[in-house]
Amino acid sequence: MRTTTIFKRLLDLSGVTVSEVEFLGDRVVVKVKLRKSKLTCSLCSFTTKARYDTRPVTSSWRHLDLGRWRLEVQADLRRIECPVHGTRIESVPFARAGAHFTRDFEDLVGWLATTMDKTALCRLVRIDWDSVGRIIERVMATGLDPKRLDNLFVAGVDEVSWRKGHSYLTLVSDHDKNKFIWGKEGKDAATLDSFFDELGEERSAEITAMSMDMGPAYEKSAKGEHHAINAVICYDPFHVVQLATTALDKIRREIWQEMNWSVFCGGSFI
Ligand SMILES: [Zn+2]
Repeated sequence: MRTTTIFKRLLDLSGVTVSEVEFLGDRVVVKVKLRKSKLTCSLCSFTTKARYDTRPVTSSWRHLDLGRWRLEVQADLRRIECPVHGTRIESVPFARAGAHFTRDFEDLVGWLATTMDKTALCRLVRIDWDSVGRIIERVMATGLDPKRLDNLFVAGVDEVSWRKGHSYLTLVSDHDKNKFIWGKEGKDAATLDSFFDELGEERSAEITAMSMDMGPAYEKSAKGEHHAINAVICYDPFHVVQLATTALDKIRREIWQEMNWSVFCGGSFI
């Protein structure tokens, strides 16, 4: 089987053919071509067969890592004349407009942000926290799959913050599908109430378990009328461990202070 065919199957990117694969140091660069003959505006649904020109610079997107290899998808994109948005780059089916990451990569980051702590996430996906914030904002702004809220049985809710703690978001994920499914600015009970409003009474009642931090806000909302009334509330292992670590630190400090005191007392007797 040809390398390009193998990568086409491995990457599973929709609407493209793989034309070339290059191994460069710790990176694999996969060059792709769009299959559709019609060009679509990256900001609206306008399509045309007429190209304005080809962008002189090759566009690239970071995709999910392949083992120890960092995977980069590259394509030479064309520009079109959109009657509403003017000269725009054509859209690609595998990435959101303006993103330097593929949709799969961004969806994974969105989900991880609801389930992992900040430092571990940044180390795992090798991007900084501000990029995580921008990804989540983009995922929310461009809309998520309308069917994402169906068949939701085990959900997770968490708050994430960035811009040095000035911006907070509440994110909800589907633990069965390992996907980030909803997000809104804010971190109080009212924020999560809007998730249940969107989900509706019937689907909310189908949730059997919901994981969250140990603060009162999310639990108050989850237990609210017409919300996750049948769900068992579970505390995130991360938050439980964090609480235990803080308690242990406190005890360690107390013991240390006591020890110092006895050493001092012991010294004064000599
Ligand atoms: Zn447009």
